[in-house]
Amino acid sequence: MKKVIGVLALQGAYLEHIVCLKNSILKHGFDVEVVEVRTPEELQRCDSLVIPGGESTAISQIAERTGMYQHLYDFVHSKDKSVWGTCAGLIFLANEVKNQAELLKPLRVLDVVVERNAFGRQAQSFVTDCDFSSFWDLGEAFSTVFIRAPVISKINSEKVQLLHKLETKSGQSLVVAVRQDNILGTSFHPELGSDLRFHEWYIREFVLKDH
Ligand code: GLN
Repeated sequence: MKKVIGVLALQGAYLEHIVCLKNSILKHGFDVEVVEVRTPEELQRCDSLVIPGGESTAISQIAERTGMYQHLYDFVHSKDKSVWGTCAGLIFLANEVKNQAELLKPLRVLDVVVERNAFGRQAQSFVTDCDFSSFWDLGEAFSTVFIRAPVISKINSEKVQLLHKLETKSGQSLVVAVRQDNILGTSFHPELGSDLRFHEWYIREFVLKDH
């Protein structure tokens, strides 16, 4: 049966995710459909949900105002769904948020502490090559965009698998990608650019695989 990936389209970089997902589907002939999600009816069709980057406080507040919050909560907490949060999306999935956490109500499904804006302001945004070969076989350097990005400052459960640590120039080692069962969280934006490997991997590993 055709799988349906929804991209939460309340705010942020959802169009870029849709383009990457659709291009991956075309390239590989995956039996997958992509839909924008703004309503409970659209969410109900989905097997998987991508929560984009943007502004986590805005996504959270719009979700509450439009009555989507509880539907999203139920979706991300159900075992037979897969979910990927990028940047603001990662913040929205976390159990605990640091740095102006009172402005948002996270979905509390990923058992980590996330620190918002951990690299500073917009001007301190950056692009760096990351080597993801420890968890995929799609090659080494992947150009990775960090925009007012969060970091995962604490992992609180054995169920959370650390996927990638970023080694900064100042010698810090920061967790920027984790997986907890069928939930993926990344601090960065793989949807910005034309490299489809992250989306291809997500579709194969989270959407098409039984879990
Ligand atoms: N700093 C934003 C927030 O706290 C996230 C930025 C992003 O998604 N690129 O929600």
